[in-house]
Amino acid sequence: MLVAQVPRCTQGSEAAVHAARGICLPDFRTQCREKTVALNPSMLAAGMRVPPPTATNYQTNNTLSRLHSSIRSCTRCEELVRCRSRVVPGEGSVPADVLFLGIAPGRLGGDRTGIPFSGDRSGQLLRRMIERSGLERVFITNLVRCNPRDAGGRNRDPTHTEIANCRDHLRAEFALVRPRIVACLGRLAWQELVGRLIPFVPRQARPMERDGALLFPMYHPAFVNRGAYPLRLYARDFARLSRLSAGALRLPRG
Ligand code: SF4
Repeated sequence: MLVAQVPRCTQGSEAAVHAARGICLPDFRTQCREKTVALNPSMLAAGMRVPPPTATNYQTNNTLSRLHSSIRSCTRCEELVRCRSRVVPGEGSVPADVLFLGIAPGRLGGDRTGIPFSGDRSGQLLRRMIERSGLERVFITNLVRCNPRDAGGRNRDPTHTEIANCRDHLRAEFALVRPRIVACLGRLAWQELVGRLIPFVPRQARPMERDGALLFPMYHPAFVNRGAYPLRLYARDFARLSRLSAGALRLPRG
């Protein structure tokens, strides 16, 4: 049984990363037995640091892999099944200290690469901020796992029905990852977890405790990339998140 879980790559930490994924993806640059793939160091630094393989890790990886398989065959959202290139499950450390919850895979990002927040400017900014703030054990996912597009082929927000359809997948990821902190990237992610009555105010972030995890509101990187929020303050917010994760920051609870 374990033999089936041994990754095709056999090169140290990359092998463990690939084991966590259950597959080899073109973001890694190392020599696989079956193909050459590219390693992206910033992605490793940004949360793909998987512990050395142990029996427990293999069990966890196996569970994550099984969860990914079931998610990848999902066809609950008729419209998204038509416009998506692929299903994009969450990715990262299991368990994780911080789970980043975005909205949906981007047309130029996850929908193209198969990895949430990668391959586009939002992904680059998020991963750069994670790396700079020193956060290590992170998991990155979205409210929905398929790219929603409008009639013109542009990214759009998922509908309430689409978010509801994908809720089981999100819950399953939460159950597996057991994050101590959930960084909600954008109002939709925040409202999904805390409801509409609690205002979304990342500038003066007030973490809320829900089901044993601290929920932390943050702007979506796309919002920062279009100049609506200063990069300097975004870096400050990540530094606060990092201190919160390290237990060094006690913000007033909402
Ligand atoms: S968005 Fe979620 S629920 Fe809808 S088809 Fe994709 S994986 Fe399934």
